[in-house]
Amino acid sequence: MQHLVDTNDFTDQQIQDLLRDAKAFKKQTPPKLLHDKLLITLFFEASTRTRSSFEVAAKRLGASVVHLDPSRSSAKKGESLEDTFTNLCAMEPDGIIVRHHLNQTPQDLANMHTTPIINAGAGNYAHPTQALLDLFTMVEYFGTQVRGKTIAIIGDIVNSRVASSGIRLLTRMGMHVVLVAPPQFMPETSLPQYKTLEEVIDSVDVIMSLRAQLERHEKEIFEDYDDYAQQYCITPERIGERNILLLHPGPVMRNIDISDAMLDDPRCRVLTQVKNGVFMRMAILKLLLLDS
Ligand code: ASP
Repeated sequence: MQHLVDTNDFTDQQIQDLLRDAKAFKKQTPPKLLHDKLLITLFFEASTRTRSSFEVAAKRLGASVVHLDPSRSSAKKGESLEDTFTNLCAMEPDGIIVRHHLNQTPQDLANMHTTPIINAGAGNYAHPTQALLDLFTMVEYFGTQVRGKTIAIIGDIVNSRVASSGIRLLTRMGMHVVLVAPPQFMPETSLPQYKTLEEVIDSVDVIMSLRAQLERHEKEIFEDYDDYAQQYCITPERIGERNILLLHPGPVMRNIDISDAMLDDPRCRVLTQVKNGVFMRMAILKLLLLDS
C-alpha cells in the first residue's frame, strides 16, 4: 500500500512517471481507469482548488468520490480523528484524501495501514500535490532545462506548506531555490535569502508568490498589508520586460500578492497551475490506486 504524505514517498522514477502521465492525460482524455474505485475526501481546513481538483481528477478517471464535511460530522460530537478515520476505513474505500491543520496527521493516518492516504495539505509542513503540479507546470514550460533554473519563493514562506513541499521537491529536481521575505516570514534555512526581490530578480526564471497565512499567525504580524504590498506585491513595474514565469498556489490576495494587471499578464500561470493540477492529480491517483 503506497501513501502520499510528501513527495519523498515517491522515487525519482515515479516522479518521472507522474510527469509523463499528467502530460498524456492533458493531451488526450484517458479511459475510465479507476471506474471501480471509491475515494473519500476528509478536509478539516477550507479548500477551493485542491478539493475540487481531486474530485474532478477522480471523476475524469471514472472513480466515485464521497465527501465528509467534518464540520457536520461526528467530530462535532467529540469523536476523535482516529475513530472517524477507522469508521470510514470500515467502508472499504480505495483511498482517503485528507487535509488537516496538524503537520503530523497524514503520516499518523498512514501509519494505521488501513487505506492509502493522500495528503491534500497538512499544517505548514507539506502539500505534495501542489508541489508536483507546480513542477509539472515548470517542466511543461522549460522541458528538461528546468534543472538549473532559479525560482524565487516570495511571501509568508515560514507558514506555507506549499513552500515546504516545493523547496524539498524542486531542490531535489535540480532547481536553485532562493527565498524572498521580510524577517517575520523567513524560515530558518541554508537557502539564499533576500529581503527584497530587486536584489535577485535579474537571476530569476520563476517567481512563486505566496499568500500571508493569516489563519496560522498566532498574533497579527503586519498591521497594514498595503504597506507589505509596497515591497512584495508582484507588479508589471517590478518585473519589467523580464522573461519570468509567475506562479501562485491560490487563493491570490489581489494587489497584495499579485497586482490585477500582473494577473492578466501572459507570464502569470496561476490558471495554468489550476488546470494542470487536475492532470497531475489524475496521474497521482492512477499511481497510488492502480500502479502500486
Ligand atoms: N491553497 C494553498 C494551501 O492550502 C495555499 C494557501 O492557502 O495559501 O496551502
